[in-house]
Order: sequence, then C-alpha cells, then structure tokens
Amino acid sequence: MELHLHPPAEALLQKQGLTLAHLRLTAWNGESAEPLSLPVQWHLSAPEAGFWTLHFDLSAPDRALEITRLRLEAFLPQALWGQEGTLWSLQGAAVHWGQDFAFPLEKGFARENYLGHLQDAEGGGVPLVYLWNRLHGLALMHLETTPIEWYLPVERDEEGVRMAFELRRPLRLTPGQVWSSPLFALSWHEGGDFFAPLERYRQQMAVRGLTPAPPLPASYEAAWCSWGYEFDVTAEDVAHVLPAARPMGLRWFTLDDRWFDAYGDWNPRRETFPNGAEDLRRMNEAIHAAGGLSQLWWYPLCAEDGHGAWESHTYGISQILREHPDWVVLDEQGRVARNNRHLAMLCPALPEVQEYTLALTRRFIEEWGFDGFKMDNIYTMPACHNPAHHHASPQESIRAFGELYRRVLELTRQLRPQEGVVQICPCGTPITFHLLPATDQTVTADPTSSAQVRQRIKFYKALTGRSAAVFADHVELSDGGVDFASGIATGGVPGTKFTWQVPPERQARLKENWQLSAQKFELWRFWFDLYQRYRLAEGEYLDLYDMAFDFPEAHVIRKDGRRYYAFFAESFDAELQLRGLEARRYRLRDYEHETDLGTVEGPKASLRVRFTHHLLLEATPE
Ligand SMILES: [Zn+2]
Repeated sequence: MELHLHPPAEALLQKQGLTLAHLRLTAWNGESAEPLSLPVQWHLSAPEAGFWTLHFDLSAPDRALEITRLRLEAFLPQALWGQEGTLWSLQGAAVHWGQDFAFPLEKGFARENYLGHLQDAEGGGVPLVYLWNRLHGLALMHLETTPIEWYLPVERDEEGVRMAFELRRPLRLTPGQVWSSPLFALSWHEGGDFFAPLERYRQQMAVRGLTPAPPLPASYEAAWCSWGYEFDVTAEDVAHVLPAARPMGLRWFTLDDRWFDAYGDWNPRRETFPNGAEDLRRMNEAIHAAGGLSQLWWYPLCAEDGHGAWESHTYGISQILREHPDWVVLDEQGRVARNNRHLAMLCPALPEVQEYTLALTRRFIEEWGFDGFKMDNIYTMPACHNPAHHHASPQESIRAFGELYRRVLELTRQLRPQEGVVQICPCGTPITFHLLPATDQTVTADPTSSAQVRQRIKFYKALTGRSAAVFADHVELSDGGVDFASGIATGGVPGTKFTWQVPPERQARLKENWQLSAQKFELWRFWFDLYQRYRLAEGEYLDLYDMAFDFPEAHVIRKDGRRYYAFFAESFDAELQLRGLEARRYRLRDYEHETDLGTVEGPKASLRVRFTHHLLLEATPE
C-alpha cells in the first residue's frame, strides 16, 4: 500500500498498482467557481499497518487571501469499490435522533455530516467515516482532541464514493501567514466491519491523551429506570418497584426526567416531591437499604429562558438565568444557542458556570444521596460569541464542554469511589468523542430496534474498549420490547423501565403501559439471572464477524477461557462457522436453554444448527 502525494494537491492511495482512493485538496473563494491555486505543504507520515496521518500548511506568500470553502476529499472509484455488491458505510457524525450508525450506501446518497452543534437539534459525534465492502475498507478521520466545526460529507454517485472533510467558514490568510490544517488520518483494512477502524481511532486518540474513563464494577450493574412512569414519577412509585426489582438482580434505580422544577435550577418538583429534597433523600435511603444504587437523570449546561417548550411543560424563566442572564452561549449571529430541547445553553468556559455545575454535582450526591448520573441529551457545544465572556477564542466553549463533564465525573468518583458511575446518553446518535473521558458507561441511546442495539454495542466496544461497559438501554426499546438476547449476549449491560402493579387511576395518566404480567415477570427474572450468571459485559469482545457481510449476524465474547457466541437471524437452518477457537476440543452448550450440543475441534469448527431470532452458545475448552 502506498500513498503518494503529488504537488500541489493530489494523492493516490495504491496497492499492487490499483488505485484504491484518490485524495484531493481543493480551495474556493466564494466569488468564483474556479478553485484557487495556492501553495500547499504536505506532511504525510510513513504508512504503518495501512495507517497514515496527514496534515497540510497553506500560505499566501505575497497577498491576502480569503478561502470560503476548503475540501480534503477521498474519492473511491466505483470500478474498485462497487464491484463486490453492496457497499456499507459507518458515519460517526451525530446528525439526527434514531440514525443508523452503519448502513448500506446506495447510489444517490448524500449527507453533509456537520460535526458542530446543530441549533435546536443534535450535532457532534465521532469524526470518522468508514467505507467497506466484502473485501476491504478505508476510513477517513481527524485526530484532533477537541471537536472542530467542519463537515464530513459523504456522497455516492455512478463514479464512486466521495468522503471529505470540509471547512465552510471563511479562512483569511494575511500575506506570508502559514495556516496549518487539523490532523487527518486514513486507515486501510483488509476485510471486516467498522470495529477495526474505530478501535484504531481509540488507540490513536489515546496516544494524544484522550482515553475513555475506565469503568467501575458498578458500571456493569443492571438497571431499572423510572421512565415507565413518564414525567410524573414519584418517590412512592420507586419504592413500590424496589421489592419486585431487587430480587431480579437489578441494582441501579434511576430517577428519570422531570423530577425537577425548571431546567437550570434543578430543585425537586413540588407536584411530585412535595417535601422537596427530603423526599429524594428518603427515596435514596430506601434504595440503599435494599442494596441498590441510585442514579439521577440530569441535563447540565442548559436553562429555561422563557422560550419554547417540551412535552412535559412550557418553559418559564429559570431562577439561575434571572440572576445570571449573561451566562448563555451566543452564536455567531448573536442568537441564544439552543439545544435539542430548545433550552438556552450555558457557557462551560465561564468559571461561574463551572462552579455552579460542580456545586450541583456535589449537592445531588452529598446532600440528596444519589450515587451516579444519567446525563441525557448530551451532544456538543457551539462556539461562544457572547462578548460578555471575553473569550480569547470562540472555540473555548467547545474545549471547556468536554473538560467540564470530565470534572463532573472526577468529582462524582471522589465522592463515590465505588459507585460513582456517570452515563452520558447522546440520545439517538453517536457520542461526541471528547466526552469519552467523562463517561464510564456509554449507552445505545434510544435504539429503535434490536438491530440498532447490537450495532451500537459493537460500535462502543470498539470506540471505548473491548471490555467497556455499554448500557443496552431499556429492553422495552428492543424488538417486541422483550429482546434481552440482543443486549446481553453481545456484551451490553441490560436495563428495564417496567412499572409494577400500577393502580388503574395512575395508569390512566400514563401514555404507555409497561406493567409486567406474571408471565413477563418470569421472563424478566430469567434474563436478568442469565446476565448475572455470565456477566458477559465484563468479558472481552472479539471482532470475528462482519456485521454487514456475514450471515447470520454474529458476536463473540471471550470470558474465563470460554467463548460466548451469539447468532442472530429471523430464521436460520444451515452450517455455522465458529471462528476464534484455539486448536483444541471444545464442549458446546446452548446456555440459554441449558442444552448440551456435543463437542467441536478448533481452530476451524462448524456446526449444523436451526434457530429463529437467536442462538446463544458457550464453547468451553476440554
Ligand atoms: Zn462563552
């Protein structure tokens, strides 16, 4: 494999004479459709195992120059990439709730993939695109440790696929000035899905000082969440669930959304917690007395400013913004920056906002008795142009965003060394990468199907570590609301939001009904028992099957010398390949149904099977 950079702005990625990709740098000035011609100084690393880093310097030696659009494009020709049938892509930008992280890339596809904050919406994500077919794949990424407000567009047409990094805000060069680009990288892979390039991204970021927070043992504990009781959950609801949930091995009890009066103020809501903090303290004492841990739902760095509404209520003006109206982030146009719930965003680069956020963290744990957090709707932060903040650079708010969350985790761990788990949920999207040091439990984040549960668990095992704690989210979000196998057998930490013996008048006030029947209760108990027995989330995820091209879909976890296989298909009746075995004999067992399936001889073994939905196998060396 070679990457040759030809002056001034083009490169070929070649292997055995084949052009795998064509790299091109183009700059435009808004006034002309013609690209600019300007000197480029390339900095290209020697390839190491199919990996290159790449950045460039631009200069305008003898005149001032304005670039309005700058594009570093990798063009992958159809003749090479489209010949193996379906093409798949992983696109790490957080663009909209419910998105598939990886999906087949059809001709005509085009997506902008903005990596910055989207006003009144999501934004951020992982700055990586991976394109692969049955034989090989190529990833394009940046390796900056702070998010950059670039685009990561992907387009497919008759000629092939274009993936690019694009700057679409003016870049002004004074005469003689040298502008250095962000650090980019290309990663080549022989076969396999998005796991290997994402794992490589994690390793590269670790070299640059950005590592995911290591999980605590408590990060792997199964969770019950109050969301089944929707916005009006009370301490009595939680107390009522405790005796049903604890015997299932559920350890975490999450007080979900809307326990508070106003976003930004975070006082207990009087309608549902009439005695205020005292109700929360008693609720947490009851949870602790039952051997559980308590988790608080929280959406830091936002406040109500009298604009907009959410399903739960129409926004007023929070006390904190009455006192500190100048804490808000303003965008380039001077508008109040708003998150996906249309709330004003507080500037994390302000020391006062940092102190306030850390003081809340302390209050929730020390005064109210919570152990950890479910941070929800966390995407990214826009650059702050509020003149009252006197930022040296508008990007200070973006840098400070990841850093403040990291400090919240640090303080939580200081106050609760054993239990201080911080889950960060980027609802429906991939997490913004510089939050990884701030969370010890990532989450599949509102999956819309079992397929998304499995895909996102694999995504996070690659991004945060093969044994990382990935919360599979509420099982009620999986296919049929009961597919525990997709969360547990792939290495996720299971959770549920069931409600328990809800009186009819209470149920009438709920939009959905998640009560457990006696039959469902037994099913829940069976699967949470199974989780406790094997604790596969703590095992090592092995990347042995391609989620796009291997059938049936398969996942493998290595734990205590054993291999745990999980196969998924609507129905399957053929030979299975058991990959990743050593050259020895293994006893096979269907560990869901406690059925012995005889022995196989590694390293290459296959097995004739028939199943619907899933098959879970344990291979134990003999
Ligand atoms: Zn600011």
